Amino acid sequence: MKKHNYSAGPCILPQEVFEKSAQAILNFNDSGLSLLEISHRSKDFVAVMEEARALVLELLDLKGKGYQAIFLGGGASLEFLMIPYNMMKVNGKAAYLDTGTWASAAIKEAKFLGETVVVASSKDQNYNNIPKGYTIPADADYFHCTSNNTIFGTQMKEFPETDLPIVCDMSSDIFSRKLDFSKFDIIYAGAQKNMGPAGATLIVIKEEILGKTGREIPSMLDYAKHIKAESMYNTPPVFSVYASLLTLKWLKNLGGIEAIEKINDAKAALLYTEIDRNPLFRGTAAVEDRSNMNVTFLLNDEAHTAKFDELWKAAGISGLPGHRSVGGYRASMYNALPLESVQVLVDVMKALETEIK
Ligand code: PMP
Repeated sequence: MKKHNYSAGPCILPQEVFEKSAQAILNFNDSGLSLLEISHRSKDFVAVMEEARALVLELLDLKGKGYQAIFLGGGASLEFLMIPYNMMKVNGKAAYLDTGTWASAAIKEAKFLGETVVVASSKDQNYNNIPKGYTIPADADYFHCTSNNTIFGTQMKEFPETDLPIVCDMSSDIFSRKLDFSKFDIIYAGAQKNMGPAGATLIVIKEEILGKTGREIPSMLDYAKHIKAESMYNTPPVFSVYASLLTLKWLKNLGGIEAIEKINDAKAALLYTEIDRNPLFRGTAAVEDRSNMNVTFLLNDEAHTAKFDELWKAAGISGLPGHRSVGGYRASMYNALPLESVQVLVDVMKALETEIK
């Protein structure tokens, strides 16, 4: 029986994506060949790459606005280094907002290339909120932020007004909510949450911002080279790109980001309402910054841990423990997690309350 999968990533994908991508491994496009045994430069795979790149821009409403979408290897973590390589001028400076483990990992890599200013950090509060009211130095080459903090369960609801290029790590909430994506100059995301299997990283770039650093960039780290090669500078992660295309098509058929946002809002409202109502639980993130993707919460009395764990496991729930650095629980509710799965979790929380009374 299919579990209710709350895994933080890799995570649940639409069932039809699992089925269609499994079929493509056996016999891709009725070619008598597996997707995994054909050249990435074959007509069939080039068509996959082209369609995936175009569909990303269409779904983000960036078509015809000077943006390029590419799929690279290396995970979002490699982008932590590629961003400063492509954006920080020689003797330049970058501005970063520190909202969690991944933001601070990005800051660490930027420091390899030059002066990296942390405009604000919520580290002292165990990253339970998004800092506000900070100043971004006007002479920085770019501003970097993380839209959703996968581990701590906070999400940026607003982005600063700045004349600087904005670079955003959207690994854990891309395609989940409507934003004016044209406010961002680079958006990047590992595939393994709302898009597909691990292996590919999506980077969406406003092309005109490249080529301004005065830096020599090693080939594999150079966005311009990857764009020029139409995301085929070297062998791309073919399976991850193909399954991502299937997920993007699923999203488009559903009505795109606008439609999924309504479902995501309903899922988040259902679970947060129960966390706030049920005296046994409390949320860990500041209420105004709560993430719709990763809901972090604790039992008020740890003595109930064994009973709660027994109940959710018996209900067919998987992947609920919090990140090893935080503890407690984390319900990751990415696009493909159905509302029914959230209802199952809420019912378990209510059942715990009944058992304890
Ligand atoms: N950024 C965020 C927001 C993430 O959640 C993660 C992974 N969970 C990463 C970056 C790192 O991604 P990867 O493992 O693809 O390098």
